[in-house]
Amino acid sequence: MNTKLTNQDIYDRIYAAISERRLLPGTKLSEEKLAMAFHASRTRMREVLLRLSQELIVEIHPNRGAFVATPKQEDVSQVFAVRRALERAIAAELSESRPGSAIAALRKHLELEAAARSANDHVMLARLTGEFHVLLAETTGNRLYTENLRRLVALTGLIIAQYSDDSNSACPEDEHSHIVQAIEAGETAKAEHLMLEHLAHVQSGIHPAAAVADEVDFTQIFGLQSDSASRRDNA
Ligand SMILES: [Zn+2]
Repeated sequence: MNTKLTNQDIYDRIYAAISERRLLPGTKLSEEKLAMAFHASRTRMREVLLRLSQELIVEIHPNRGAFVATPKQEDVSQVFAVRRALERAIAAELSESRPGSAIAALRKHLELEAAARSANDHVMLARLTGEFHVLLAETTGNRLYTENLRRLVALTGLIIAQYSDDSNSACPEDEHSHIVQAIEAGETAKAEHLMLEHLAHVQSGIHPAAAVADEVDFTQIFGLQSDSASRRDNA
């Protein structure tokens, strides 16, 4: 790799590797090894890892370094609770203001999603359907919506990569275009309702219980009795 990569390029490549499961949750992201691989300084790697950690898709442990984050059940609930609050407000604001140029940008984005869907490009589709939510936030002109949505969408991507089938890694078909239609028509209550319903559908495709346990249960692994098991009837 001889071409000069920007920090954004490096960020994109690490993020893609995580969301495409080439780097699994819990994997150590050694600053030194990454610096060698990317032909970049450790300082730059530290900047990229810090940004990924601010988006909660990388965890930095003092003295131990950076690791691909391992979202837990409660993280899934918390992410979606905040997304419901923010994205409901975003849908309401947009359907009240209905900025024409923004609607055109949203429609153009829907065309890209449709093209990726018909080309069966799951990776591109997953990326585009995530970006749709960030684009909605950008359309409000409120930078705090955008910055927070960017983080939440990145984190949702990681959770989906960990806990869903590949076929489930994008938003359900048509729901984005229905939301845009409601916004365009100025139907605030409908836009809010469709957004909440849409987020519920995305969340329902995530099954943290099916994933590898994030905490090892020695009692179970070694066939030992836990306190609660000892209170049950002996088989
Ligand atoms: Zn969506």
